[in-house]
Amino acid sequence: MVSDREKSRECIIIIPNMRIGYGWDSHAFQDGVPLKIGGLLIPHPQGLAGHSDGDVLLHAITDALLGAVAAGDIGTFFPPTDPQWKGADSALFLSAAMDAVEKAGFQIANVDTTLVLAAPKISPIAKDLQYNVARLLGVASSQVSIKAKTPEGLDQDHVAIAHAVVLLDKNADQKKLDLAAAALETQSLIDETVENVVSNVPVNREKISRSRS
Ligand code: MG
Repeated sequence: MVSDREKSRECIIIIPNMRIGYGWDSHAFQDGVPLKIGGLLIPHPQGLAGHSDGDVLLHAITDALLGAVAAGDIGTFFPPTDPQWKGADSALFLSAAMDAVEKAGFQIANVDTTLVLAAPKISPIAKDLQYNVARLLGVASSQVSIKAKTPEGLDQDHVAIAHAVVLLDKNADQKKLDLAAAALETQSLIDETVENVVSNVPVNREKISRSRS
């Protein structure tokens, strides 16, 4: 059996100050739907097919956030079979992932993303995407990176792909809780050490008297 004290020591050791998460998603282009990436409507002849609004970038970031705190994936929270998420704004998914991050005691340090798509060109709107994704995440634009590449040699011009990596660090509340737990643990170790020393004193005296005789 693992004692409560050992469990609390294990918690202090295994919860690191930083966590990393990775997310990936893809959606096919389709006629007759608006194109939404990073929460922005982008003028383009085709949009991205999907049960929700098909926002491939927000889906990848959502999965990265959930992955960083080992909370599952976007399908765990919003099953594509559930009709209530048909056409849903993917900002809702992102918001749920941010709640999971906060509940776990973390906050976003930075987010790095790469879009892979043949069209439209992302570079002219990269700053707008960066600003809007940062706004949705409640962080500064400097904490969000939006990069884009074309799928050269992959024969995937009909698809938009997004990769996202997030780094989290502990939020202020969790840091205070950690400090309080560490202080309790230190006091507990001191008490245990003093108890051991005191209880061994007669034995030590015996050893000393034996060694002198
Ligand atoms: Mg998706």
